[in-house]
Parts: sequence; structure tokens; C-alpha cells
Amino acid sequence: MAKQVVTRTYTASIRNQQQVSDDLDSLGFSASKLWNVGRWVCDRVWSEIGHIPGHNELTSYLKSHERYDDLHSQSSQRVLQELAEAFTGWYGKRRNGETRANPPKYRKHGNEHPRSTVTFKAAGFKLDTKYGRVRLSKGSNLKEYWSDFILCEYKTRPDVDLSTVESVQQVRAVWTGTEWELQFVCKVEGKVSEAPGEKTVGVDLGINNFAALAYEDGHSELYPLNCLKQDDYYFSKRIARCGDSDSDQATRLNQKKSARRTYYFHALSKHIVQRCVDEEVGTIVVGDLSGIREDEGNGESKNWGKHGNLDLHSWAFDRFTSMLEYKAEMEGIAVERVSERDTSKSCSCCGRKRKVNRVERGLYVCDECGTVANADVNGAENIRQKVSPSSPSLSVNRSNGWLAQPSTLLFDKDTGAFAPQEQVTS
Ligand SMILES: [Zn+2]
Repeated sequence: MAKQVVTRTYTASIRNQQQVSDDLDSLGFSASKLWNVGRWVCDRVWSEIGHIPGHNELTSYLKSHERYDDLHSQSSQRVLQELAEAFTGWYGKRRNGETRANPPKYRKHGNEHPRSTVTFKAAGFKLDTKYGRVRLSKGSNLKEYWSDFILCEYKTRPDVDLSTVESVQQVRAVWTGTEWELQFVCKVEGKVSEAPGEKTVGVDLGINNFAALAYEDGHSELYPLNCLKQDDYYFSKRIARCGDSDSDQATRLNQKKSARRTYYFHALSKHIVQRCVDEEVGTIVVGDLSGIREDEGNGESKNWGKHGNLDLHSWAFDRFTSMLEYKAEMEGIAVERVSERDTSKSCSCCGRKRKVNRVERGLYVCDECGTVANADVNGAENIRQKVSPSSPSLSVNRSNGWLAQPSTLLFDKDTGAFAPQEQVTS
């Protein structure tokens, strides 16, 4: 086993919540105010010269602004960086044709400011792992007398020991909706295994089957993620009933919904990596969804967000792919992102590309070679072939209908893991 340094984030509760929550509140409010000042500057610069300033420009505009000194300079810098990133994310969505995407909003509810996350970098915190304390720096405007820092007593999960990590790079104070918690972003020395083998698997992410996998030997698997759909439906209905989408109850429901989603993504990415270990896969090839809308109009596009009640946008797939990447990395498996262009139009068996994609009841039908394949598996196989061309002996398997009969695996609520359809009872 080789060793490698990787980044991990550990969450910790704050033991002396009562003593520090007022101070953390003022920092959280200040971060929102600085965000709004930055947001306003973006509007102004845009209307004057038709350009939205990036992170460095924003910092040089605002570093002499009064609000900048409410936080430690590195914390203020991070707020403006987040704002610039939010704009970049928005351009990306617009480029991909998500016309409903909105630019980053002001952080304000009437006269109230929400509590934004505050990030402390190297010069802004001091960690004492022996006594489980961390000192967080305030900005010069908020310092009173000798108290220029907030002293938090933290408690991590029992299996996490911050004194054993390589280094703690950042501390984040995050408002959960009910209290403050801390996140420690650490460099951790992890054990990385040798790759389990040299085979490849193609992964097609989508809305009907969240993931379709096509292995090199021709067999395939589908992960429909029905649970996520049910959950989404249930929570959306309850959130709609709240009326006010900014209410505490709606916020709590949204948090719960996203926590459950995160859980599914973790469970599925973990499962897929384990399957790759079992199947001696060394490379996972996954469709890169950032260009998803480029072929809109000729049947190639996937209509995100319009399918039933599942409101999954490309960022959800991005997030899932990142989880897959870091879990695979620990097993020595590489993840390659490739363009999805033409992967749903072409026949993975003979390579024929259709002008109009003929998909009948989820099946891809090729009238050149007679292949009938599950449409998502056909896509996954095309994605796989972008990295590893098919071997001719496999076309026999394929024409025998292999790709039309993938095994379906479902999330089992009783065990919290994925299992073949026929074994899942819940
Ligand atoms: Zn064909």
C-alpha cells in the first residue's frame, strides 16, 4: 500500500455554544454584509463597463471598505472569493442553457441578515488539539478590549483525532439553522491501494437511471435511485405546505432533504467503487456533464429538472462524480471524465451514428447491426469506449442481447446499501 496525502473535512460540535454564539453571530452577519457590498459592486461595475469583476479585482476594490475589517482579512477574502465562484457557477449554467438559473442573490431577508459561513485560514485560527480548543480571529472592527478572538471548545466524532492529521488548513464556522458548528479542513495521510486491475467501466449518469454501468466484459448494471425520487417528492410536498420558503421549518426540511441526498450519493459511490474492486477495474470512465445542453434540439439533450418530481441539476452529478473520484482514489482506481458527445446517438456495437435517436421504451435499437440495448447502458458503453476501444470478441455477447439485460440494483432502506432488485424488500 502506497501512502498519499489527501484532503478531508471533519465536522465538530461546539461545547461552549452559549458562550460563543453571540460572537459567531456577529461574524456570520458581517460575512453576509460584506457579501452584499461585493454583490452591489458587481452590479455597479457591470452596468458601467459590462464586466463582472473576479475575485482579485473585488478584493482590491473592497479591502479599504469598512465592512472588510469586520472579519479577519483572510476571512473577508474568502467571502469575496465565494461570491466570484458563485458568479462563475452561474455563467457555467447559462452556457449550458439553464435559462432559469439566477445570478447569486443578496443575502438579506428584509432587514435581517442570514448567518453566512465564516472561513478562517492559517493566520486566522490557532488550534490546540491537546485541550480541544480553537481560537478564531475577529476582524479589527469587532475586537473589544483584549478579546480579539473567539475561543471555542470543540468535539469531533470519536474516530477523528485532529492531533494525528498532517495539518489543519482551514476552520469554517457554519450555522446549521439551529446552532453553530465547526468544520476542520485537514491534510490527512491516507493509504492508497494498488489498482485492483486494468479493466475499464463506463458510467452514464442520468435522470431515469441515476447511473448505468457498462463493464469491459459486456455485463452491465443499472442504479435507478428510486429512493431519491420518493424522498424528493415527499420533501417537496412538505416544503410547499410551509408557504414561506424562508421560514425555519422550510429551512430545516431543505437541510434534511439535502442530507439524505448526500447519504445516497455516498452510499452509491461507495458501492460502485467496491464493485470496481471486485471486477478488477483500474479506470472508471464517466460522462462529463458540463456540456450537457450543447446538442439541444436534436434529441440529445437530457431535460434536467423536468422529469417527474426529481429536481436534479448538473451540480448534483458533479458532486456525485467528486465523491466517486475521491473514494476511487483511495483504492488506486483512476476516474476519467470524457465528453458525452454522441454517446447516446451511436450504436456501441457497430458504431453507427443516427441522425435521430431511436429509443423505444428505454431500448436503443440499431437497424444497421440489429443490436438492441438498454439506452443508458449503450450510452455507458460508448463512454467506456472513449478510453478503451472494444475488443471484437465482445460484439458476440452484445449482439446476443447482453446490453439489453442489465441487472438492476436498488437502495435497500433496511440495510442502507445497494442490492439486486429481487433481494430488496423495503
Ligand atoms: Zn449497430
